[in-house]
Amino acid sequence: MTNHLFDALFARHATNSAIFLHLPDGQTVTYAEFFTQAARFANAIRASGLNPGDRLALQLDKSPDMLALIAGAIGAGVVFLPLNSAYTPAEVAYFLNDSGAKLLICEGRSAASLKGVAEASKAALSTLNSDGSGDFADFARQMPASFTPSDRGADDLAGLLYTSGTTGRSKGAMLSHDNLLSNARVLADSWRFTQSDVLLHALPVFHTHGLFVATNVALLAGCSMIFLPKFDVNEVIRQLPASTAMMGVPTFYTRLLEDPRLDHERVKDVRLFVSGSAPLLAETHKQWLARTGHRILERYGMTETNMNTSNPYDGERRAGTVGRPLPGVELRICDAEGREMPTGEIGMIEVRGPNVFQGYWNMPAKTREELRPNGFFITGDLGQVDEDGYVTIVGRGKDLIISGGFNIYPKEVELVLDGLPQVLESAVIGVPHPDFGEAVVAVVVPAVGAEADPQMITSSLGQQLARFKHPKHIAFRAALPRNTMGKVQKNVLRDELADLFAL
Ligand code: AMP
Repeated sequence: MTNHLFDALFARHATNSAIFLHLPDGQTVTYAEFFTQAARFANAIRASGLNPGDRLALQLDKSPDMLALIAGAIGAGVVFLPLNSAYTPAEVAYFLNDSGAKLLICEGRSAASLKGVAEASKAALSTLNSDGSGDFADFARQMPASFTPSDRGADDLAGLLYTSGTTGRSKGAMLSHDNLLSNARVLADSWRFTQSDVLLHALPVFHTHGLFVATNVALLAGCSMIFLPKFDVNEVIRQLPASTAMMGVPTFYTRLLEDPRLDHERVKDVRLFVSGSAPLLAETHKQWLARTGHRILERYGMTETNMNTSNPYDGERRAGTVGRPLPGVELRICDAEGREMPTGEIGMIEVRGPNVFQGYWNMPAKTREELRPNGFFITGDLGQVDEDGYVTIVGRGKDLIISGGFNIYPKEVELVLDGLPQVLESAVIGVPHPDFGEAVVAVVVPAVGAEADPQMITSSLGQQLARFKHPKHIAFRAALPRNTMGKVQKNVLRDELADLFAL
């Protein structure tokens, strides 16, 4: 029996006594301990009636057990679906229905609110808490530690990662065993990870960055991670002297720069800082260099493709660029018809390679729109490539807002706003914000006779949308600006509100 991803990431560590995870309270988890826990979870997943190819949804806080559960799912050949812990039950309902998940594992504290949602989609519900308690934890404890992985090949599905949809519907990106493994191999090699590294991990693990880029690279290298439950400036500052590498979103870097304790001495043993998931301002790159002596290595990727480009480990890391295509990845700049454009021109970024996903779950039409028959994926990002092959991202064709490293699709928020009785119509935009990069701002036209009350609108959003999607500001207008085709001119609104959060 072979299991393409499990064998490469986990099985080879079955008897490895090296430390995999350092936890903030000083406790550690060795690779062998982690493997045993993953094996028990795999057996528990099987004993719950899930077969290879079935889906397992999890909405859990970041913890070693959450990672071990994902490892167990991979070993059992079950497709895992990690959900942002900020998602409301209404949002979870959509993911369960769409994926047809057989089992949802959540925190004990959310079991009551998710019970109805799980029942409605005929998924079983179980709990797992980061302190080791919960039904599923108890069940797994009774399971044997020995385990034979399910047979899974390179093209079998490993995970479904949901992205927000521009039409308001989330799409499940189908990632195969080799999509994940091939990319992790390229990254571990390109960024020179070895078993002596200590990776500072403060990213969420329901997203490609923290889950695949960071964790899979560490597993392949066999190095350890300082595994923090979330990004906290004090904790990161405290842990930096013990780290050799950190991966972060740009907000990590801007927040750390605000702390006077950040200096050369604190990061003298760090060899690599990586940034991605949103644009890193060239200014931040420069300030970081001045304060720490390090050039942040910026890379570019997305849920559907894993990582596509990276600035070089050796060689010039150019501020404001995302570097060159990674080995094995083809990247081209095209016009709307998919015709390649001359060097230096701005167009749509398309990518092809073993990293590119298998399509959107249950959405063949959407898959055909974005994945060309020749294998190129239309990323939705606008970019240009210079003479030296460095890629610059100049904008987003897909209207995505990235706030504090989280993606928000305006359409999804607009649909909820428009459904409120006091709202006639709305437009949601991202405006520059010194801390979050961009902040979500809603421009609302009140319904006839309705009161323009931002607080009432925000509290009505509470039940339907995760907090990070809530507008940080609501502006009222008598009408939205529109062009002759009737399209809302968001650029006009962006210009009007550009200085809303200016310092
Ligand atoms: P996600 O699927 O959540 O990883 O979001 C992917 C999107 O984040 C991409 O399509 C880009 O728009 C954006 N993104 C990721 N990395 C970068 C980067 N280094 N610079 C600019 N945008 C980025």
